[in-house]
Amino acid sequence: MIKNFNTDKTGIRFFGLSLARTLAAIFFALFTCFSSASAQKKIYVLTDLEGVSGVYKFAQTREKDSPLNIQACEYFMGDLAAVVRGLRDGGATEIIVLDGHGSQAVIPHLMEPGAKYITGKPRPRTFGLDESFAGEVQFGAHAMMGTPDGVLNHTQSSRSENRYWYNGVESGELVQAAVVAGYYGVPTIMVTGDVAVCREATKFFGPNCITVAVKEGISREAAVLYPFEETRKALYKGARKAMTAIPKCKPYILELPIKVRMEYLNLDPTLPKPVLVTKEGYIQDALHILDF
Ligand SMILES: [Zn+2]
Repeated sequence: MIKNFNTDKTGIRFFGLSLARTLAAIFFALFTCFSSASAQKKIYVLTDLEGVSGVYKFAQTREKDSPLNIQACEYFMGDLAAVVRGLRDGGATEIIVLDGHGSQAVIPHLMEPGAKYITGKPRPRTFGLDESFAGEVQFGAHAMMGTPDGVLNHTQSSRSENRYWYNGVESGELVQAAVVAGYYGVPTIMVTGDVAVCREATKFFGPNCITVAVKEGISREAAVLYPFEETRKALYKGARKAMTAIPKCKPYILELPIKVRMEYLNLDPTLPKPVLVTKEGYIQDALHILDF
């Protein structure tokens, strides 16, 4: 009797279990299918040094490994750690940091866990960036050349004072980087730097792009600095918020071919004084915007 009951029960249980397993498998497949895009939140952090807390003069950014530069790179790592923590707590599944400043700024022993850090030269300009990223953060950015209140403002070369116009609109490094990310369908979700670069970000990327100002420029090498404890709190909060802004941010895309105008100073020392040079032409492919 008991045996029979057990057999019956086992049969039912077996059927119940297999049904449950099948349903679980279906739900899992559906869940994976619908959530893979949102569950996989890879973030690319493109860094620069000029827009970091406490940095306001070229003596901190131009000469590699001078005492002022080493200290500035420490400020950079402190700000960066706050952003990495914020992104992670906001749901980033993978964070790739690229050391974007010309002379490089990453100090390995100060790396915040939870990200990978690309540094050193030579290497491709945006190494590792591809379609798999959900968003790009432009960290430590600066305003375009000629912005009166832009701390350490420049576009590409601060010495030869380059200026660029794309399809008739003057643009800085913010746009140049966003165009490359946009080529891969990756939106710019956050910009950090001074008040001027935050204003530039909102102008080009719209109000959904999160901006965090860590200082306010007075002139090219003068600023109202905000204390590190406060900027890092703001950077952490901003990064967390940027993760929720991803669906609202759109990749930045310029109409092709891109009509380019470029101005720069020819600093050839054999010339009596620097000469302004103008170059015009077209770029067929957004990925190569910086090769002009
Ligand atoms: Zn830089």
